Amino acid sequence: MRFALLGSGSRGNAMLVQSGDTCLMVDCGFSVTETVARLARLQVIPQDISALLITHEHADHVNGAARFASRYGIPVRCSAGTLAACEKLGIESTGTFDPETDFTLRDIGVIPLTVPHDAREPTQFVFTDGVHRLGVLTDTGSITGHICRLLRGCDALVLECNHDSTLLENGPYPAQLKSRVGGPLGHLSNAQAAGLLTQLDCGQLQHLVAAHMSERNNTPALVREALAKILSCTHDWIQLATQDAGLGWRELVAAY
Ligand SMILES: [Zn+2]
Ligand SMILES: [Zn+2]
Repeated sequence: MRFALLGSGSRGNAMLVQSGDTCLMVDCGFSVTETVARLARLQVIPQDISALLITHEHADHVNGAARFASRYGIPVRCSAGTLAACEKLGIESTGTFDPETDFTLRDIGVIPLTVPHDAREPTQFVFTDGVHRLGVLTDTGSITGHICRLLRGCDALVLECNHDSTLLENGPYPAQLKSRVGGPLGHLSNAQAAGLLTQLDCGQLQHLVAAHMSERNNTPALVREALAKILSCTHDWIQLATQDAGLGWRELVAAY
């Protein structure tokens, strides 16, 4: 199994998870043209994509979803609440999933993960090829016991490190937006992400990727410092998925 991010942040999100002939896209927050260009960077064409999973209805996750899926005939899967919230955008799901029930899309097992976020019925995911587990957690306001249970023992984690609380507090956002972003249904701070890591067994982590980083209220150095301290690793072992470059393919290997 391998994964890559087309881009990550408040101006657009999309990622790929691939195993065997199955290639899943998670979210499509870029225009069709931009999505196709970013896929090309990863040597992928739209026709390679088996299904599009949507985490929630916020624009940075669905901006191009309806047009991209319909242009290339890609099946869309999301929770019923996300679908209801996306209907006005023209997104047609080929099947909703129950956020409490695991399912399989061809070669990839999908474990939905319900999260506290200010959307209708948001989910994040754990993916498995039967050997490895990849946990994806962004757009989450607080850490729950449920999140800890499902992310325990993952081989790779894509983890939201949205903001540094002090930079957010002293930054340029209006007060209302500050309290939304930093609130229990907003986004994870570096400290919250680090706190989650203390509750997981990270012994088998091959990749830790910081994602959905704010360009105004965070810095790569602060992210790396917060996470590396918990894992006792070097700062550059922490990988960063950026808004413009995303993250190239990362492989999960058998004998690590
Ligand atoms: Zn988002
Ligand atoms: Zn969101």
